[in-house]
Amino acid sequence: MSSVLKAEKVSFAYTRVPVLENVSFDVQSGDYVGIIGPNGGGKTTLLKVMLGLERGRGKIELFGTPLKQFNAWHKIGYLAQKSPVSQARFPVSAQEVVLMGLTDHHGSGVSVGELKQVYAAMQQTNTRQYAGKIFHDLSIGQQQRVLLARALVSQPEVLILDEPSTALDGTSREMFFDLLAQLNQKYHTTILLITHDTGEVGKYISKFMYVDKTVVFFGTKEEFCHSKAVAEKLGAFAQHTIDHLHNQHGHCPLGGTCQECGK
Ligand code: ADP
Repeated sequence: MSSVLKAEKVSFAYTRVPVLENVSFDVQSGDYVGIIGPNGGGKTTLLKVMLGLERGRGKIELFGTPLKQFNAWHKIGYLAQKSPVSQARFPVSAQEVVLMGLTDHHGSGVSVGELKQVYAAMQQTNTRQYAGKIFHDLSIGQQQRVLLARALVSQPEVLILDEPSTALDGTSREMFFDLLAQLNQKYHTTILLITHDTGEVGKYISKFMYVDKTVVFFGTKEEFCHSKAVAEKLGAFAQHTIDHLHNQHGHCPLGGTCQECGK
C-alpha cells in the first residue's frame, strides 16, 4: 500500500467564505472511497483542489509528489460532474471524446496503438457501438458511459468520479457500479467516488469519507459504524444502514442497535 492522494491541513475559499477548512486525509492505493456529505458541503471543491483545478492552501501530494511538481497525469482518470464536453455544442464523435482522455495524445493523427486503447475503454463501458456517433446525439446515460471510457482510456491508477450515476437508469447504474468494483478488485484501481447513491455505494466501497466543510470522517466501513462524529451528523439509524453491513432492522453486527426498532 502506498499513498495516492494526501491532504494535510488543506483550506480553500472561492470568495471570503471558507468552503474547506483544515482538511487532512491519506488515500492509499487500492482504496475504494465513497465520498458523502450534505449538498454544498464541499465534496466537488475538494476533488478540484486535490487535482489543482482550484488552488487551495496547505499540503497536497499525488502519488507522494507535491502537487506543484506532479506531472504524471496519465495515472489519474477524472470524471467531472459537469464535463466541458457535455456542455460544448461542437459535433464531435464519441470515439474522439474518448481519445481526448489520452493526455499524451497531440495533433490530429491517431496511432493504431491509441485506437486500440480507445476501443478497449469503449468495450469496457459497453459504448463501442457508439464510436462513430455524434456525442451530443447520445442519451445522457450513454454520454456518461462514454465519458467514463474517456476517464479510463489511459488505464489510470486512480479514478476520481463526481456523482457519475445520477444520469443513469437502473440497469446502466448497476453496470456502472459493477465495472468500478471490477476495476478495483481485479486491477487494484484506486477509486474516489462522490455519490448521493448511498444505498448503492455501501455495497462496493471499502472506506467512507464524510465531507462537510472539512473531513468529518475518513475510515473503513466498520469504523464508520462506530464513529461518534458520523452519528452526530447523520443520526445513528442512517449511520447503521448506509453501509450494508447491517440487517433490515439496521442492527449492527459489530454491536450497534437499531434506533427505530430497538433490536
Ligand atoms: P458539494 O459537492 O458537497 O455539493 P460544492 O463543492 O459543490 O459542494 O460547493 C461547496 C460550496 O462552494 C457551496 O456553498 C457552493 O455554493 C460554493 N461554490 C461551488 N462552486 C463555486 C464557484 N465556482 N464559485 C463560488 N462558489 C462556489
